[in-house]
Amino acid sequence: MVVKDQLTLEEAPVSRSEAQAPVVPAAVMRIDLHCHSQASHDCSTPLTSIPVRCRKRGIHVQAITDHNQIWGAQELKAMVESETESGQPALTIIVGEEVSTSEGEIIGLFLKEKIEEGLSPEDTVEQIIAQGGLVLLPHGFDPLKRWRLTPAALERVADAINIVEAFNARVSRATWNRVAAEWAQARRLPMSAGTDAHTIADIGVAWVEVPRSPVGSPAELLAALIGGKPSGLRTHPVKAYVYKLWDRTWRRVIAR
Ligand SMILES: [Zn+2]
Repeated sequence: MVVKDQLTLEEAPVSRSEAQAPVVPAAVMRIDLHCHSQASHDCSTPLTSIPVRCRKRGIHVQAITDHNQIWGAQELKAMVESETESGQPALTIIVGEEVSTSEGEIIGLFLKEKIEEGLSPEDTVEQIIAQGGLVLLPHGFDPLKRWRLTPAALERVADAINIVEAFNARVSRATWNRVAAEWAQARRLPMSAGTDAHTIADIGVAWVEVPRSPVGSPAELLAALIGGKPSGLRTHPVKAYVYKLWDRTWRRVIAR
């Protein structure tokens, strides 16, 4: 799908309060397409804590993109499905997976089945498409992201990418988000934002804000992203890593 009128990305300064205690008018919604839960090996966020946090942070559409797993996203989707807010879904969960391919990470959205890790980028993309899903490129240009898709692999699967993450809250430098936005714009591809949250505190700190509309299918999501600007608060990666370790440790302690 080619997007003609998605706004250009400026690194608009977002205040801490706008990210953490936003006032989101009823007519608009915020979309975050990259977030982890307890179904990821490196995240302890309980699934049950996610809906309340999303509501507090004004997130209406949340993709759960665990590493090589979809069970968490599926459970959460089933959990919130019946909840409505003035006739609309209170929270829409998109079942996604951040797949570790043999050459770096690719996100599949609207998945029905788990995709195995370790496949080539081409095979991974093919499986996402076979399921009717969307291919999202997360943090594609940050050289300090150990698991980013390699530039060579990106070149090979570029034509299959549907959405480019143009704001990742955990990139090492803001520049890498700008590079992603430019890459998306050159290809006229829709842009997304991702908190890449590995702790409950990071949920909701990145979003694309657009007029409220149902997002139950790939086509509806692509349409919804048009006109939205990826925004958010960048968490310093070292801080994010320390939070993640701390979060995991205290959850283990209280689980005893
Ligand atoms: Zn991630």
